[in-house]
Amino acid sequence: MGPGLDFLDLPSLSAAVHGCRRCPLGHSRTNAVPGVGPGDARIMIVGEAPGQNEDLQGEPFVGAAGKLLDQLLRGIGLSRADVFITNILKCRPPGNRDPLPAEAEACSPYLEQQLRLIKPEVVLVLGRHALGRLLPGYESISRLHGKLVVKDGVSYIPVYHPAAALYNSFLMGPLEQDFKAVKAHLDRMEERRQVVAAAAEPVAKPEEQLTLFG
Ligand code: URA
Repeated sequence: MGPGLDFLDLPSLSAAVHGCRRCPLGHSRTNAVPGVGPGDARIMIVGEAPGQNEDLQGEPFVGAAGKLLDQLLRGIGLSRADVFITNILKCRPPGNRDPLPAEAEACSPYLEQQLRLIKPEVVLVLGRHALGRLLPGYESISRLHGKLVVKDGVSYIPVYHPAAALYNSFLMGPLEQDFKAVKAHLDRMEERRQVVAAAAEPVAKPEEQLTLFG
């Protein structure tokens, strides 16, 4: 973590991203795109980098890929209001080229801090660039998509990038299945939470049980 990059909350992190010049993208962007969503989101979604629409509006996933993402979320009973969405890079690479390793490296303290502050139950890793950054050394997206990976106490589910499914329609079915895997994981977590809560409930003392029943 670089000096001055230890944030107490998401608003101060966002403010720092808006003023960031840690790499040349900080000079070429129109708007920085730190991310949006509730600070207590159960799901964090991590894409690649802002595109043209995101750069103009300062919000992630507002273009065609974003519409598909909304549709996929609706398909598992969620909406944008339920999730925190961000990217590996907080600024647009010119011409939407792939992120450079040095840019991803310069930007990584922000994502690391977002993970620490939000503590999501699951991180959806969208596509191969986010996968390479968050789970380096793991298998490719075509092998790992839809599978739960736990690393350093954080649960990740890599899924195909919605933009990839827009270009290659054969990926649409697998992408929908991946979102079902996310829903199944969240349901399992909820069940577990209920079991833990029930176990923690105080058991009535014998004399209270007597008053209850007789
Ligand atoms: N929009 C984003 O914000 N990120 C992507 O990865 C693609 C589109």
